[in-house]
Amino acid sequence: MTPTAFVERAEGALADAQLQLALSRATGTLGSRRASAFESLENADAVRDAARAARMNAIANLSGLLERFESKLIANGAQVHWAETSEQANHIVVDIARHTRTERAVKSKSMVSEETHLNEALERAGVTPVETDLGEYIVQLSHDRPSHIIAPIIHLTRQQIGRVMEQRLNVPYTDDIRTLAATARAKLREEFLRADMGISGANFGVADTGTICLVTNEGNGRMVTTMPRVHVVLMGIEKLVASMADLDVCLKVLARSGTGQKITVYTTMVRAPRRPGETDGPDELHVVLLDNGRSRILSGDTAEILGCIRCGACLNVCPVYRNIGGHAYGDTYPGPVGAVVTPGLRGLTEWRELPHASSLCGACRDVCPVRLDIPRMLLALRAAAVADDPQPKSLALGMKAFGWIASRPALYRAMARVGRLALRSRARNGWIGALPGLAGGWTKSRDFPAPAARTFQDEWRARRKRRAS
Ligand code: SF4
Repeated sequence: MTPTAFVERAEGALADAQLQLALSRATGTLGSRRASAFESLENADAVRDAARAARMNAIANLSGLLERFESKLIANGAQVHWAETSEQANHIVVDIARHTRTERAVKSKSMVSEETHLNEALERAGVTPVETDLGEYIVQLSHDRPSHIIAPIIHLTRQQIGRVMEQRLNVPYTDDIRTLAATARAKLREEFLRADMGISGANFGVADTGTICLVTNEGNGRMVTTMPRVHVVLMGIEKLVASMADLDVCLKVLARSGTGQKITVYTTMVRAPRRPGETDGPDELHVVLLDNGRSRILSGDTAEILGCIRCGACLNVCPVYRNIGGHAYGDTYPGPVGAVVTPGLRGLTEWRELPHASSLCGACRDVCPVRLDIPRMLLALRAAAVADDPQPKSLALGMKAFGWIASRPALYRAMARVGRLALRSRARNGWIGALPGLAGGWTKSRDFPAPAARTFQDEWRARRKRRAS
């Protein structure tokens, strides 16, 4: 998929009525659940501050914490691998699969494995990967891609999911959610029993103890990490917190922000492979620590984004995401967080359009449980993109002309008056359906509000006059 086609993808999404329906229902529900979950949290602001402090501390001390994490993992009996790139990470996992004679692997939800395209690498090596998170399972069955960080099939209606299951699993069509879930559950149970390897991501790694923490609602994470004889964790190097106390505050805000729950149904802590006398757990535990551009982000203006705990809350409130969905962003991480992360991981030159996929309304910053200032980072990326590759001459000239007019108040007022009158003449019921000329791009997919009858300055003057009299 070419990154320069962002506008094309966004236009396609805006024209898809089913997508619009699915998005508005799901993001609305997730957003209101989040709001009530935080209302019931005592000292919510202080907890968010503590979560931010935990993540910012981890980012500021990343190399020291990574060393501590590695030595604890090794002491616990895990094998640690370092991958600089996606290709290296996939190569390491394929190598582990070879030496453990793995033919089938079950996976719990992992955005990092989407980032590295691990499933394709495993398939090329003759290993069959099976996604076990219900949403990811549907994505895999339909050869689709996830479109939301925590709700991979947010773009599908239950009727569409019913049809995917009917076609791919050869079961009778239904759109009853319980029946669909029961069908997937029965199929996946067989997969857990057959798999040689379990592959998971990590919501957090705790440096002090070498603990991997996974949060899930379906219990599949626990099956993936305990049933197969080999467990591989693929995680980004930024996923660390220093201590169990830091993990505690992060968990308090993660589920509330993601799904509106106080805590997810399963919180799994993995520390070691199976020890003598234990009845379950893998014979081997491998942890693959992936950089893939994170060190580059760490040294730049957007290092703060590495504190993201992937809750997805910023997606649900973003007016851009809510209209175009996740696929339009063109890569693994969608929404406001993706607009910062993707150019950081993959390069600003090719992904320069993404920082513009924002109205800079600030809703993402307001809901972010770790208070990441996404609008600031988007502006920094926009500035860097312009500095690297100046805008077309026509745009520079246009901005210059605007600056010239705006710095002459009388002229500006006169032109604003003419413009306002012209726009008001096009308005119907307070809205303009089509703006003229270049401005028409704005009204391609939405109406434009008609200008008020009086300008702010006129209103201000009138009020002052009224007050004075
Ligand atoms: S940027 Fe903040 S709100 Fe968005 S996914 Fe990350 S932690 Fe959640």
